[in-house]
Amino acid sequence: VFNESSSKIQKYEDNQQNIQAENVDKGNINLQQQRKSLPVYKLRKRLLEEIRRNSTLIIIGETGSGKTTQIPQFLLSSGIAGSSGCIGVTQPRRVAAVSVARRVASEQGVETGKLVGYCVRFEDVTSSQTRIKYLTDGMMVREAMTDEILSDYSVVILDEAHERSVQTDVLLGVARRAQNLRKLKNLPPLKLLVMSATMDVDKFSKYFQAPALYLEGRQHPVKIYHAVKSQEDYAFSALVTAFQIHRDSPANEDILVFLTGQEEIEAAVVSARQVAKQLDGQGYPPLKVFPLYSALPTHQQLEAFKPSAPGMRKLILSTNVAETSVTIGGIRHVIDTGVVKARTHHPTTGLDVLRVEKVSKAQAWQRTGRAGREAAGKCYRTYTKEEFERMKEMPVPEIQRCSLAGVALQLLAIGVDITTFDFMDKPPKEAVDVAVTCLEKLGAVKGSPPQLTTLGRTMSLFPLDPRFTKVILASTEHQCLEEALTVVALLSGESVFTDPPAKRQQAYVARSRFASPEGDHVMLLNVFRAYSNTKQKKAWCHENFLHHRNLEYAASVRQQLAMLAERANLEKASCGTNTEQLRKALLEGLYDNLAELQRDQTYITVSSKQPVAIHPSSTLHGSKPSLILFTEIVATGRCYLRGLSVIDSSWLAEKGFNIGKHD
Ligand code: ADP
Ligand code: MG
Repeated sequence: VFNESSSKIQKYEDNQQNIQAENVDKGNINLQQQRKSLPVYKLRKRLLEEIRRNSTLIIIGETGSGKTTQIPQFLLSSGIAGSSGCIGVTQPRRVAAVSVARRVASEQGVETGKLVGYCVRFEDVTSSQTRIKYLTDGMMVREAMTDEILSDYSVVILDEAHERSVQTDVLLGVARRAQNLRKLKNLPPLKLLVMSATMDVDKFSKYFQAPALYLEGRQHPVKIYHAVKSQEDYAFSALVTAFQIHRDSPANEDILVFLTGQEEIEAAVVSARQVAKQLDGQGYPPLKVFPLYSALPTHQQLEAFKPSAPGMRKLILSTNVAETSVTIGGIRHVIDTGVVKARTHHPTTGLDVLRVEKVSKAQAWQRTGRAGREAAGKCYRTYTKEEFERMKEMPVPEIQRCSLAGVALQLLAIGVDITTFDFMDKPPKEAVDVAVTCLEKLGAVKGSPPQLTTLGRTMSLFPLDPRFTKVILASTEHQCLEEALTVVALLSGESVFTDPPAKRQQAYVARSRFASPEGDHVMLLNVFRAYSNTKQKKAWCHENFLHHRNLEYAASVRQQLAMLAERANLEKASCGTNTEQLRKALLEGLYDNLAELQRDQTYITVSSKQPVAIHPSSTLHGSKPSLILFTEIVATGRCYLRGLSVIDSSWLAEKGFNIGKHD
């Protein structure tokens, strides 16, 4: 049952119960009523007219107005989507694709995966009956690689276009191209809808030569409070603020906090739960704390969406996924820390760095808006008014600041040259050059204009960063496909280690059983091997401080990668205990990610001479190998390397790589 706080809905529901036959699902009546109360419902006729009239339409509307959940259903019931084609709705985030698909399936009264389904990387919940399909934009780009005219679809909805994720930007071009190709070939037309909360409408209108339609929003006033002085620890300030609100406001007013990422959120969840426990029995309403981030297992994500029981309060600690992609009911208080974790690429160093950055004003306003969805609300910004004024107006599109090797490979597989592709915002030329050079070095492309090699074609089949695909492909040469698949699968998901602060020492001891002087990748391999040989997996994980679900996820990813490897005719082989082979295979794809020990016992990266340190979570922390390969750089104050393997410099010579002279 949803939205019990609304007396209007409650009343209606009672009436309905009297009228309806006994076997009618009460939950569904309530859902149908809720659908009709959404702002987009009133505009239905006008909206459908405009959609009929235009082959491409831009739709702007406040978050929560019903764009994502309702418009596809309108298209289906009105017949605009035809009688067989699919309505594809793309989302920049998995969480959104999954939670919205489930919501819409329940509104339609069907099981997810039948009429309404979703498809995200490594998880396809659709069937031949699926007519409304929510998918990540990355998945649709993949589909375009084997079907450039997107022939399964009668309508493609590019949702959350304002987020300007790399894959959305690629898709804007790819979908427009598919639409044109169909026109040229006299095939049934492809309708395009571009939807967004707020965005640079003129730019989109011009790019698509299409009109924009504004949905009237429903926004209650939100009172904004800024921090009086600059805060050093925004996460701490946010928690303190949350508990002040908890002390001072009625129980039915839920709280939403914007933080940056999984680790930070999990740590905050632990602290918040501890405080909530201490407050138990002191006259406070019961407080339930929920994390919300993309990597969270689906069923846990969905917990945050459940309305809180009367007299209880929800505290949700979320990444920017709750900014516009998903709507959570009951929120009256928003705490905005003003930061977001963003992937930034340095074309000169060739590295993608995940770092915490200030949000733009547009994002801050979106966050503020989340407090005023259902009634007047309050937004607490843990930064000062001056700090707000200094924020940039709009976020920089991701395409202009991330690694483009994967995108270039995808585009080439669709038959498009990234150097001439008509992006809405062109990525910097040097980033494109770096991407093409990277693909050349991996052996995926050659010539000018760049052409896919056979290896490149095979690489494009894997939904991975090209460097990791290269590791898999090259592993056959080192007789370790099995191990490469395992490690790449584990690196594709979230960490398999749990780290309960109260039992840190025990966790450390349990973990040391898998440790290897060869590094973190071999350690991951040890964990997975032990996990695979265990029967009582759940209990075993618990004993060993391992994340059962994340391991399960990795196992299913591995299975799918193994299938792709089989299709690519890769030779099955295992290196057994000779895990040096695995490290050699890793080097084949990640040769740009090396760091060298200096005389003063610090590390610098080989390619860009950047000072770095071994992350404390690494099994190599405390040891000083002279050459290490890393999987990622995290910038939190200083730059830390995570996911390490010890490399023997003689292997570089074998490959013709030359330390120091590497370009
Ligand atoms: P928009 O795309 O315009 O931001 P949505 O279509 O996502 O709006 O959401 C419309 C409404 O549907 C929300 O206000 C919320 O009440 C409801 N809703 C959406 N997703 C869920 C969900 N997963 N669980 C419960 N309610 C949901
Ligand atoms: Mg939406």
